[in-house]
Amino acid sequence: MEERAHYRELDARYYMQAFSRTMLIVKGAGSKVWDAEGNEYIDCVAGIAVCSTGHCHPAVVRAICEQAHELIHCSNLYYVPHQAELARKLAEITGLSRAFLVNSGAEANEAAIKLARVATGRKQFVAFRDCFHGRTMGSLAVTHKPAIREPFEPLEPKCTFVDYGDAGALRNAVDENTAGVFVEAVQGEAGVILPPEGFLREVREICDETGALLIADEVQTGMGRTGTWLAMHQHGVQPDIVSLAKGMASGFPVGAIVAREGLAFTAGQHGSTFAGGPLACAAALATIGVIEEVLPGVAAKGKRFAEGLAAYNPRAIGLMVGIPVGDRCPEVQKTCANRGVLVNCAANGNLRLVPPLTITEEEIDRTIEVLHAALG
Ligand SMILES: *Cc1c(COP(=O)(O)O)cnc(C)c1O
Repeated sequence: MEERAHYRELDARYYMQAFSRTMLIVKGAGSKVWDAEGNEYIDCVAGIAVCSTGHCHPAVVRAICEQAHELIHCSNLYYVPHQAELARKLAEITGLSRAFLVNSGAEANEAAIKLARVATGRKQFVAFRDCFHGRTMGSLAVTHKPAIREPFEPLEPKCTFVDYGDAGALRNAVDENTAGVFVEAVQGEAGVILPPEGFLREVREICDETGALLIADEVQTGMGRTGTWLAMHQHGVQPDIVSLAKGMASGFPVGAIVAREGLAFTAGQHGSTFAGGPLACAAALATIGVIEEVLPGVAAKGKRFAEGLAAYNPRAIGLMVGIPVGDRCPEVQKTCANRGVLVNCAANGNLRLVPPLTITEEEIDRTIEVLHAALG
């Protein structure tokens, strides 16, 4: 039997069917992946902005293997190898003060919720329509999409949603009960939606006036994805807390919050068994080293995509590209896959491309050719 069909049956029988999947990917190298039938693809999904250094980057593989031979895990009851170095790196690249490590994007936002509550003594949050902050109960409470939140209501903390880009509505929603405002510098899951000029600076002002903390969810946009370590920095805005995860460790599960001076958990306020373990920290440090090398080229690569796809009104910032294609999205995604390029459909009929930051010009040009064929 064809390997993929066999695997589909096994998955259908034994795995909870929460995803709709197509192929079985068995190997990756650089920006390419291969399925079980040996077909090759340029991977512009990259684990959804996770595989920032490409698949199995030698420096990341080496760091994980070397650390695995030394120590795979030790409790946070002890100092953890590589953890303090990673925290210093995160403070440096974000311009913030202290980090706390977690295992995922949702957990990063959970940590941000707890930190904002304990630091301000306030209970409520404000976030934006079409935002996505995760699927655990707290991160889901600050996530807008009705289809994914309503089956699990009531949710805590209480969160008010206003239109992304509407500073006036935000001003009305934020008050002395608001612990924090969750904002994405680009709404990724919503389909790569860019904020209007000046909007994020207004968010900063409103937070400053009310004492609410500005929590930047850069789980998708951070770690160089948009051409700078934080997308917020392109708007001249410094958050009080930033959450990071996806691109941090090339696919090894790790997330973080980094907060400004004076904002930090104290003894007993938060913890996690696996978070910030030696393997995760080694993988993250190696990943950051690779990103430091390729970051200066990210803006130009994004521009190459945007220019090549100009006919389709793309929205692009660095290597985060959204193309509005409407109802055809699933079909376009399939055509691209058949022609050797993986892309995915974000919300509202938007095709999303978030390839490795290491993608080559040839691979970008080939991707553009395939998109022309699929969209033309
Ligand atoms: C993916 C994502 C999350 C959730 O991250 P998980 O690791 O899947 O929990 C949160 N916020 C944003 C902006 C994301 O893109």
